[in-house]
Amino acid sequence: MKFYSTKNRSKPVDFKTALLRGLAEDGGLYMPSEWPKATRVHKVGKVHQVLKEFIDIPEKELEKICSEAFNFEVPLVKLDKNLHILELFHGPTLSFKDFGARFMARAMNYYLRKSGEKFNIIVATSGDTGSAVADGFYGLSNIKVFVLYPSKRISALQEKQIATLGKNIIALEVAGDFDDCQRLAKQALGDPELRKKINLSSANSINIGRLLPQMYYYFLAGEKMKKPIFVVPSGNFGNLTAGLFTKKLGLPVKKFIAGINVNSGIPEFLKSGYLAERHTSLKLRRASKTKMTYSSAMDVSSPSNWARVIDLYKNSPELLKKDLEAITISESETKKTITEIYKKFGYVADPHTAVGIAAAMTRHSTITRNSDPYVVLATAHPAKFPEIVESAIGKKIGLPQALAGLVKKKKQSVVIGKNYKELRKILDSNH
Ligand SMILES: *Cc1c(COP(=O)(O)O)cnc(C)c1O
Repeated sequence: MKFYSTKNRSKPVDFKTALLRGLAEDGGLYMPSEWPKATRVHKVGKVHQVLKEFIDIPEKELEKICSEAFNFEVPLVKLDKNLHILELFHGPTLSFKDFGARFMARAMNYYLRKSGEKFNIIVATSGDTGSAVADGFYGLSNIKVFVLYPSKRISALQEKQIATLGKNIIALEVAGDFDDCQRLAKQALGDPELRKKINLSSANSINIGRLLPQMYYYFLAGEKMKKPIFVVPSGNFGNLTAGLFTKKLGLPVKKFIAGINVNSGIPEFLKSGYLAERHTSLKLRRASKTKMTYSSAMDVSSPSNWARVIDLYKNSPELLKKDLEAITISESETKKTITEIYKKFGYVADPHTAVGIAAAMTRHSTITRNSDPYVVLATAHPAKFPEIVESAIGKKIGLPQALAGLVKKKKQSVVIGKNYKELRKILDSNH
């Protein structure tokens, strides 16, 4: 299958090109050019049969990649009548980003092994992306990963997840904030001189190679639930876009609800009647600073995957509103939800998942026998955010094994300043 750019449909590329480029050359995002019906393959362990429609990797190889990438459980926990939690945090770095990162690493490795090329990945992170990408690519001989993270601005555990691996994972601790990291990564990706010398790509959620595999768990849940309402805690809308893809492929879904925090401009998009950014007050919002919230991985005002959502719904707010609602959850509601869900069901939710649960509750304050089944996607393990969770439930929570072992490991980061020259020197000498 070919993938076109949301900015220009006329020059579609194959999956390998889209995967290795990340962003299209014209700055657009890659979209699948066809939507083959996938009605017979909503079977556990059969996701490769959906992905093979999009990805030109031989079926046997693709099956192997999927079984290695998705080698952890995805429990569907019933909290109450018609309120279910799909736990996506049982991968090695305890967030749903493991699905996309682990698949993407293996797919890249497949193509590069065949061609013998060497590749470099650069990724700026405020936490979960960096750890998932570092872990997913760890140990691959033909790919080096440079992870830029803001010094002292990510949690100690997240830093350990990124900076204790070594080998092909280079942890760059930037004396600055997340925006500095992102700017540096963009500068490197847009440096023509550097790109002449080395193969360089990014691994953020605009990469179609991270998005497609995330359809996996929607199909899993769709197998178990009849026409669910999926509630997705959202920031850059990568997770939700993967869900919309499954509906397009024929998965019966009643509705998607984006649970968002106070930073998101999506309700304004949906209300405005125009989907394109230039028509909304979003430009203003983008200029104002994003606030730090409990659900830090969703502190995004203008989601990077929105161009895909608009493209999928042919720029029609009417069509989009049939499938998508967005509900904003305040900080106090988020914390209150963690407390209440614990009291009522004994369930410990992380702050991102709590935004999703609160959105489900808001939309349907009494989830009764006759109502539709809600499936809230749990995007991170509560142990990744101990301060807020422990304060909300009034109790200590233990570290899962995956994190407990990390505490003793020593970090090995390279400290760099905000100046691009420093990064450039490292890229020049390390690739
Ligand atoms: C990244 C992240 C999100 C947001 O996902 P998007 O695909 O960017 O919408 C939500 N929760 C957690 C825990 C995350 O790490």
